[in-house]
Amino acid sequence: MQVITEQVYAFSKDNQPVYTAQPGEVLMFKTLDCFSNRLTSEEVTMADLSYGYNDANPAAGPVFVEGAVPDDVLVVDIFDIDVAPVGTVATDDHCGPLFEGMPYQTKKVAIEGGMATFNNVRFPINPMIGVIGCAPSGPDVIDGYVGSHGGNMDCKLITKGTRLYLPVRVEGALLQMGDVHAAMGDGELCGTGIEIPAEITVRVSLLKNFELHWPVLETFGPAGKWYVNASAQEYNEAVMCAAKEMQRLLMNATGWSAADTYMYMSIQSDVEISQGCKPCEVQLSLRIGTPKLPEFSPLVG
Ligand code: CA
Ligand code: ZN
Repeated sequence: MQVITEQVYAFSKDNQPVYTAQPGEVLMFKTLDCFSNRLTSEEVTMADLSYGYNDANPAAGPVFVEGAVPDDVLVVDIFDIDVAPVGTVATDDHCGPLFEGMPYQTKKVAIEGGMATFNNVRFPINPMIGVIGCAPSGPDVIDGYVGSHGGNMDCKLITKGTRLYLPVRVEGALLQMGDVHAAMGDGELCGTGIEIPAEITVRVSLLKNFELHWPVLETFGPAGKWYVNASAQEYNEAVMCAAKEMQRLLMNATGWSAADTYMYMSIQSDVEISQGCKPCEVQLSLRIGTPKLPEFSPLVG
C-alpha cells in the first residue's frame, strides 16, 4: 500500500502530485496535527506560533487519481483512522463565542484503548478528518478554509466507515487530507478538537460524469443518511447552498416536484453545524442530512 507523507498548506491546481493512484486503489495518508505538530508541550501555546498560510492545517498529498477529469466525482471510502497516543486541544484569544478574555492555553489529551482522558474524565474517541478535498479549478484555497472543493469542513461524520463524494474540478482530482481530530463536538466551539497526528487508510474510486456542486457524505447501517456539506461566511447562505444541492439530488433521484421535495426535506432532513467557531474568520460549515430512501439513491454510479 502506498503511503503519502508529503504535506501541503493549500488546495491548488498547481500543487505537484506526489503519487498517481489507480481507481480502486487503497492508500494511506500520514498526517500531522493542525499545528504542524508544533505544540510540543502544555508550556507552548498558540500565542507562541505563527498560524498562517504556510504553517497551519497541513494536509498530506496531493494524490493524482488516474482518469479523473472535471465533472467526475471522486469517491473516498474511509477504511480507518489510526490516531497517535496523545492529542492537543488549545484556546486562543479570538476563536469561538467565549473568546473574550480567554487566555491562551494548551492541554495534552492522552488516548488509550479508544478512550480519551481530559482532566479526570474519560470518554470514547471518534476520530474524524477535519480537512479533506480536491483542488479547485480557480484560485488556491488554504487548507484552513472550506468551500465547494471540500477543505476544512470539520464534519465529525467524516470518519471510519463513511463514504465521501467530492466534486472533481481539475485533471487527476488532486486529493489531500489532514487535520484529524480524535474527538470534536459539532461546532468546534473553541476552535480546536483533540488535534492529533494520524494514519488514514482510504480507497479512492471514480463516479464518471456526475454533476455534484458540494461534497456529499454517505453513512451506512440502519440509520444511514445522505449529507450535503456546504459553507459560507454566514448561516443564511450556507444553509441555502446545502438545501439547494440536497433538493436537486433528491429531485433527480425521486422525480418529485421542487415543492414536494422541499416539504419532504422539512420533515425528514436535519440541519447540523459542523464548524461554527465564530467570530473567527473561518467560514461556517454545515451539513443537511436526509435518511436514505430504500428505493432511491441520489448518487447512482
Ligand atoms: Ca479544522
Ligand atoms: Zn483541527
